[in-house]
Amino acid sequence: MLLRRALPVSTLQRRSSTIELRLQLPGYLLTRDAAVDFTGSAQPMAPRIDRLITLCLVQPFLRLLSQRAASIPILMYHSVSEQDESATGAYYRTSTTPDRFAAQMQWLKDQGYRSCSPAQATQYLRENMSGAGKQVVITFDDGYRDFYSHAFPVLQQYGFSAIVYLPTAFIGNTSIQFKGKDCLTWAEVRELRSYGMWFGSHTVNHPQLHDLGRAVIREEIRNSKQEIEEKLGCPVKSFAYPYAFPQTDVAFSRWLREALVAGGYSDGVCTMVGRAKRESDPLFLERLPINSCDDHDFFTAKLNGAYDWIAKPQYLAKLVKSRRFKPSGKG
Ligand SMILES: [Zn+2]
Repeated sequence: MLLRRALPVSTLQRRSSTIELRLQLPGYLLTRDAAVDFTGSAQPMAPRIDRLITLCLVQPFLRLLSQRAASIPILMYHSVSEQDESATGAYYRTSTTPDRFAAQMQWLKDQGYRSCSPAQATQYLRENMSGAGKQVVITFDDGYRDFYSHAFPVLQQYGFSAIVYLPTAFIGNTSIQFKGKDCLTWAEVRELRSYGMWFGSHTVNHPQLHDLGRAVIREEIRNSKQEIEEKLGCPVKSFAYPYAFPQTDVAFSRWLREALVAGGYSDGVCTMVGRAKRESDPLFLERLPINSCDDHDFFTAKLNGAYDWIAKPQYLAKLVKSRRFKPSGKG
């Protein structure tokens, strides 16, 4: 609302191309990565703007502030593998190399973090983190098999649990591929559950929910929950929204929230960037996207809240995009 008042829709539409170019920081500019890895070797790439702002502007400013609001970082992983993503912009990469993932978990352990589920996180936040210590939620979307082979052993080594969000159409008795990568089987899911890993719903077919009819959305969120519960014999109450969360469509978000609650969900995560805070919606908790580009400095800055600023350009970019495709101003 504030943005609409500051910059009328007609102006937004007229300037949309320019604005979008600038706001695609996590796109054009983020393909240029000046990351220095955990061993200190510089990668031969040009500077990346979100990294520069985070490390050179926001982080030093935050260090001056003594009071911080209660918050919990929720890490968003997809795949832990050696997949080559050099052709993809750094912000959009979804793979973390096994070595980098291990270094990130080691750092969390060294810093005294303990892992909790999204449900526990919302409880801690409600209680203003009283007696909670340092908590982190580790999430994995899409149910890739490399969670079993590469992430799980490292999580075990450091005593962490993670929640894996399953698109159930791609989880079978034998491995099924999603986006060209093998997914977990139900036997592996059951084994991981026996070791304390959690599982949530990531719909059945991993669709763009926003584009679907409401009856179909209800089926997607109901059937995936039902199948995981049947296969694991335990309740499933957490949901991860697939793809970019349509946060600017307030009416849709409100309807979806009611549908999730009616469907038996108590908490969930989405792609809005930031740490989860006391005022966050428990059904749409913010997360921090993590991939191989998150070296020690960038990873720690994200955990400490210095990356939360990106939520504002992310929102503005979505607002501009939604206005371009819906000139009637619906919603
Ligand atoms: Zn997904």
